[in-house]
Amino acid sequence: MRVRSWAEPYKIKMVEHLQMTTPDERAVAIREAGYNTFLLRSADVYIDLLTDSGTTAMSDRQWAAMMLGDEAYAGSKNYYTLEEAVHKYYGYKHLIPTHQGRGAEHLLSKIAIEEGDFVPGNMYFTTTRLHQELSGGQFVDVICDEAHDPTSEFPFKGNVDLDKMQALIDKVGADRIPYLSLETNVNMAGGQPCSMANIKAVGELCHKHGIPVFLDATRAVENSYFIQLREDGYADKTIAEILHEICSHTDGCTMSAKKDSLVNIGGFLAINDDKLAEKARNIVVVYEGLHTYGGMAGRDMEAMAVGIGESVQYDHIRARIGQVEYLGQQLLDEGVPIIRPIGGHGIFIDASRFLPHLSRDQFPAQALAAALYVDSGVRAMERGAVSAGRDPETGENRYPNLELVRLTIPRRVYTQAHMDVTAESVVSLFQNPERVVGLRFNYEPEYLRFFQARFEPILGDAVLTGS
Ligand SMILES: *Cc1c(COP(=O)(O)O)cnc(C)c1O
Repeated sequence: MRVRSWAEPYKIKMVEHLQMTTPDERAVAIREAGYNTFLLRSADVYIDLLTDSGTTAMSDRQWAAMMLGDEAYAGSKNYYTLEEAVHKYYGYKHLIPTHQGRGAEHLLSKIAIEEGDFVPGNMYFTTTRLHQELSGGQFVDVICDEAHDPTSEFPFKGNVDLDKMQALIDKVGADRIPYLSLETNVNMAGGQPCSMANIKAVGELCHKHGIPVFLDATRAVENSYFIQLREDGYADKTIAEILHEICSHTDGCTMSAKKDSLVNIGGFLAINDDKLAEKARNIVVVYEGLHTYGGMAGRDMEAMAVGIGESVQYDHIRARIGQVEYLGQQLLDEGVPIIRPIGGHGIFIDASRFLPHLSRDQFPAQALAAALYVDSGVRAMERGAVSAGRDPETGENRYPNLELVRLTIPRRVYTQAHMDVTAESVVSLFQNPERVVGLRFNYEPEYLRFFQARFEPILGDAVLTGS
């Protein structure tokens, strides 16, 4: 019998028109943007796969919730609705709202890290590591080796390698480790999940040594879906039950609600420990806002509370990850080198294998993202050497194993036809890779350089030659 198709569990109520451009217009736009897709104007973009952060389409229920905004400076009703949702689905005791994920990372780094500390994590994330470093900490990667291998099919590439964690404890001592930062559905590894068994074991190991575990819960719902799909004993548990269990092995979380929680802005820090929460509540007023809004409008907190409830619905998360899978499968069918297994929020193209004629210092992933834009108006993002930045000690470029272009799928925004157009463009470049020209820096900012850096082609004046 034929496999039956699935379709989105929603229909379209309002549309936003997209700008159609020609390759010549896009060649000019990308040059003016310094060959950095972050510097393009969104009006010049056709299909925007730059990020899934804050790019969600909210539901009619969320828009209705916006009308319930209680914009009181202190003690807004919406804070209490949000607190209830976080408590119900994530289970943590104290909620400190922040304007977005990095706001929470900033607060946690400030209250927990001391100069000279070591902060282990399962692969770095750009903002997370930078806040740790700015607080005097040193990030230590304790993710399993499979995560760094784009060809490994291991189903839980987000897992912490317990031996690496134990080795760090033995080397520096538990009292130099303020917490372990545990990321679910590890972004930089390609949206790869951790298993529940691993999360539990990580909690046990850390707690035995008195080290708290802070979850980067940004994509914990997506991780929950993969646990349900792949891990023994979870097929009959709901997404909400799995999410709750993940959090139960940890002591708090930082959260970018712009991802899983289906809102355009927002985040939070959640903490079980009363004393640490008190510190966070005190410092949030310095950097974000009063502890009952933390940089968000009341209406945004209300929409987030509704979004959290929607995010754990099985039909939602299956369609969300199903769309990513749909795009990835089309690329795999044409032999395009992408990270396997297909992850939760995007397709990560292995630019080193895609463009073998470019060396690492010609930034193949940056060049491929720029060329893809010229070809079809699809905007992707570099996740390789440019994102990794320079080593703060030596000042040298960091060349991570993974040199990737990320096609990130916004939640509930694009249709399958948009995925088809995207796949066709990637495949056409893959069939003529030598058309893509390498890049070099002509402006490099000091912090998180990938956002604002400018480049130029190493040869000629175009990143994509011929047609
Ligand atoms: C997006 C993200 C963050 C940072 O959140 P912002 O809301 O962009 O500040 C932190 N960790 C992970 C895993 C993320 O994906």
